[in-house]
Amino acid sequence: MKLVYTHPNLYAVANAQTLVESVGIGCELHNEYAGGGMGELAPIDTWPELWVVDDRDYDRAVQLIDEAQARGAGEDWFCGRCGERNGASFEVCWACGRERRTS
Ligand SMILES: [Zn+2]
Repeated sequence: MKLVYTHPNLYAVANAQTLVESVGIGCELHNEYAGGGMGELAPIDTWPELWVVDDRDYDRAVQLIDEAQARGAGEDWFCGRCGERNGASFEVCWACGRERRTS
């Protein structure tokens, strides 16, 4: 188990999880319920964390997340289906899987 990503907002970490799982890497969300509600800032020691199950997947997972963040410098967006807030770096709604609409 290795920590690959942490962020004060659970939705950002959940998005990273979706991304990593989409390429078949096993991962787990930790501290999922430690902070406040969705979108609220948690204390730094209880940030949600994304861990890869197999250490050998670590480099690939980090690279995926880095690439997604590099692509997505911009505003957060709201899902057209469920209304959930998503980080700019992610192409798919973390909550329902709907693709981001660019138009
Ligand atoms: Zn959605």
